[in-house]
Amino acid sequence: MFLNTFSISEKTVRTALKKKMPSGTVETEKRGGRQDHLQEEDKQRRDKIKAHIDRFPRMESHYCRSKSTRDYLHSDLNQKKMYEMFLAECCVPEGLSASYTTYCDVLKSQNISFHNPKKDQCKICENFRKGDSEKKKELMCMYEQHNKEKYAVRKIKEQAKNNTESNVQVAVFDLQQVIYLPKSNDNQLFYKRRLSNYNFTIYELKSKNCHCYTWHEGQGKRGSSEIATCVRTYLENLNTAGIHEVILFADGCPGQNKNSIIATMLLHSVQNLGNIKRIKLLYFEAYHGQSEGDSAHSAISTAIERVGDLLVPSQLIPVFRLARRKNPYSVHTLQHSDFQDYKTLANHLRIRSVREDDQGHDVVWLDMREVMVQKTDRDKLFFKTSHQQESYRSITLKRKWLSALDCNMPSKLYSKPPKISKEKYDDLMSLCKAPLPMVRVAEYVSFFESLPHSS
Ligand SMILES: [Zn+2]
Repeated sequence: MFLNTFSISEKTVRTALKKKMPSGTVETEKRGGRQDHLQEEDKQRRDKIKAHIDRFPRMESHYCRSKSTRDYLHSDLNQKKMYEMFLAECCVPEGLSASYTTYCDVLKSQNISFHNPKKDQCKICENFRKGDSEKKKELMCMYEQHNKEKYAVRKIKEQAKNNTESNVQVAVFDLQQVIYLPKSNDNQLFYKRRLSNYNFTIYELKSKNCHCYTWHEGQGKRGSSEIATCVRTYLENLNTAGIHEVILFADGCPGQNKNSIIATMLLHSVQNLGNIKRIKLLYFEAYHGQSEGDSAHSAISTAIERVGDLLVPSQLIPVFRLARRKNPYSVHTLQHSDFQDYKTLANHLRIRSVREDDQGHDVVWLDMREVMVQKTDRDKLFFKTSHQQESYRSITLKRKWLSALDCNMPSKLYSKPPKISKEKYDDLMSLCKAPLPMVRVAEYVSFFESLPHSS
């Protein structure tokens, strides 16, 4: 247990014990620099390990960390598994053995992580916790504000959940971690770039109904317009059901959710969907989302784990649906032609060029904690920069650009399906051909073959 906890070899411990001095510390290294041929061997070994690590494709990082320089490997991988795979194919045949410690050392130097990036630490909390008393003093104000906001939005959510008016709908939305297909237990798959599948869930807090909007990268990316389209599709259903007011909660990380494109979609929706009179979108503090949708995501992940091999996206639909037996999730698949271009609409409205709000303050999109639109104010976007704020600030759009809201539907985002990379296409093909293909069913093979790709 000791060895496993520290991920060290028995030899490391034995050597340390042998060199233990009466004082309890380990005697210092007596050897001089390493001999040249040893150094050369060491370099070769490390290069070999690095080459092995490079064979693993990097995963798409979650939008929280789009600017991160860290690379992420598939979360099903770990150091031990990689080392075993390394031994199985790299070392033994060529006789250049490397210890687990060396392997881990090289891995560490590559700035790679297996962590689910979404579960990464909040920087504000982390800096505060790690800081000395001087630093803590400096950060105190920001940290306290962060905590207040964190609890304030949760409280608002709890209140909204208890709302009993039948024409008010309350929901949280979030994008699940990317699901890569084909999926199987074969370790070889870890070396392959695979097709990214997206699942955007909207979880209704009052009814506990959950809607999954799913597509794969051969139909759309996972940008703001794609997310906006999912929310819009949902709003259309609510409109048909006669809902008047919608209160939404979402992850506060800038990226897909927190931007002018989503706000534009809300503005367009409230003006074009007859029954809906008001829509609010509240953001959780970044990294402190408290979303019921997470339960749907973990139920789906578990269901995917249990089901065994999954090869093509269409196989995901029944798995998503039945991830919750009681009250199954509703699954909606999206095609490239479904996605609407809210970015162009935002440009037409000149929403991004508004620098100052009606109260004369600077407009900083990243600072917004709530966005609100209502039918009676066609030219206004209301917002709050704190959940503790009583009243809204507002942005008034110039009347001459407002006609952009008149078109019933924004233009299409894609005129044809987006392309996947050539490398990924080749990897997918290698799974369909090869001496022992993983994908054998003709229908599935032709699905992968027909994916548009760059050449
Ligand atoms: Zn925090």
